[in-house]
Amino acid sequence: MIDYRALGGLPKQPLHEHFSPSSSLLSFLAGKQLLLSELPFPFEVVHQHYEHGYIVYKPSIVQHENRYVCVRCGNEDPHLFASFPCARCGEACVYCRKCIKMGRASQCNPLVSSTQIPPSSPFSSSLCWQGTLSPAQQLASDAVCEAIRRDGHLLVWAVCGAGKTEVLFHGIELALSQGKRVCLAAPRTDVILELAPRLKHVFPSVDVVALYGGSEDRGKLASLTLSTTHQLLRYHQAFDVMIVDEVDAFPYSVDATLTHTVEQARKPISSLIYLTATPNETWQREVNIGKRHAVTIPARYHRHPLPVPVFEWCGNWKKLWKKKRLPANVINWIHLHLEQKKQAFLFVPHIDFLEQIVPLLKSFHPSIEGVHAEDPLRKEKVQQFRQGHIPLLVTTTILERGVTIPNIDVAVLGAEQAIFTESALVQIAGRVGRSAQYPNGDVRFFHYGKTQEMVAAKRQIERMNKEAAERGLLKTQ
Ligand SMILES: [Zn+2]
Ligand SMILES: [Zn+2]
Repeated sequence: MIDYRALGGLPKQPLHEHFSPSSSLLSFLAGKQLLLSELPFPFEVVHQHYEHGYIVYKPSIVQHENRYVCVRCGNEDPHLFASFPCARCGEACVYCRKCIKMGRASQCNPLVSSTQIPPSSPFSSSLCWQGTLSPAQQLASDAVCEAIRRDGHLLVWAVCGAGKTEVLFHGIELALSQGKRVCLAAPRTDVILELAPRLKHVFPSVDVVALYGGSEDRGKLASLTLSTTHQLLRYHQAFDVMIVDEVDAFPYSVDATLTHTVEQARKPISSLIYLTATPNETWQREVNIGKRHAVTIPARYHRHPLPVPVFEWCGNWKKLWKKKRLPANVINWIHLHLEQKKQAFLFVPHIDFLEQIVPLLKSFHPSIEGVHAEDPLRKEKVQQFRQGHIPLLVTTTILERGVTIPNIDVAVLGAEQAIFTESALVQIAGRVGRSAQYPNGDVRFFHYGKTQEMVAAKRQIERMNKEAAERGLLKTQ
């Protein structure tokens, strides 16, 4: 009987060149780290490749002192481990619950990776893009190229609407021309779905794959890979350039899992580029004291300053709502927008509250709608809002990023609530004034007591505007 639990502890074998490996097995495993149970090959075949040095095993679950650690996702939380009576090892087998969606990483199901990564072919002049970069984008683009050239680290801190994707084009082109494999990772599937056609369009001769739950490209290795951070769990030392977009975004706000996943998927010598509009406090401090190598794009591509939030006290709105009433200044703000026919988002802290107030707001205008993360009609409502059929869309923080509507205002009701972090508030404010045609707009935080997060968000926006002005990046009127 095979002792599957012991496989993870076996030492690496030297490469035997007289053995002819299965090319289908090697290409299946190239750049990846998969559970033994995920390999569609008989164990004997897999193990022969181990004995001849073509693959290595690693345990999926290890024990450090009294704690379990998941080697695949980095989970160390004792609540996220469980055991089950296992048919393969015949024992109570501990597995990781955190990454269970990607198949069960258990004590007798080791991780298998290839020791051979096929080289990628270099592309000459792969970029097909006629656009121009703003001066601030150009500086950031140069910094990205430099980081790629010297396999370094870089944080690109670009305000909402700065045009951060374009800043990557020349760097990606450079990397591809050197035969490097590039990965652009983001936490949300939406982002991957939006970026994939854009990148395929500007790199028409390059093999581009998009990895997300349910994607047909899953498991492929390409010159340019777009992946959710989740799907990256299957990759191992595969990429020469790792770009992580929206590092701040829920649910992966620079947590240990993200770091672990990114470190496993990129090569030991590779460049690492983070993109964000709202770095967390630690990163902001590190940037300010020069500890973290960063480049900022403080101005939008249209070179108008960012709209600065206005704080407006609205009293104890929760208490008022018990009498089924909303604060007078909030109602006025809504009416003003309906009269002026200017579309707006109203952000509220909870789904419950959203569902309660929408019927009341519909009495102001029947086409007002509410949308939240679990809303089955989410896509349709956003689409109708885009087409101008909905005058006011009440929403929870799900729409804080990603959705771009040319001419809108935003208000937050209950901006003091814990869900509205500095980063969320900066993103919310960032929805306004994004098009060159309508670069201004109203950002209003209705609150029952100012919070530090609100103040920090406003300060961050003002600091960016100041930097943009000092660097001469704004249009002079
Ligand atoms: Zn795990
Ligand atoms: Zn087992």
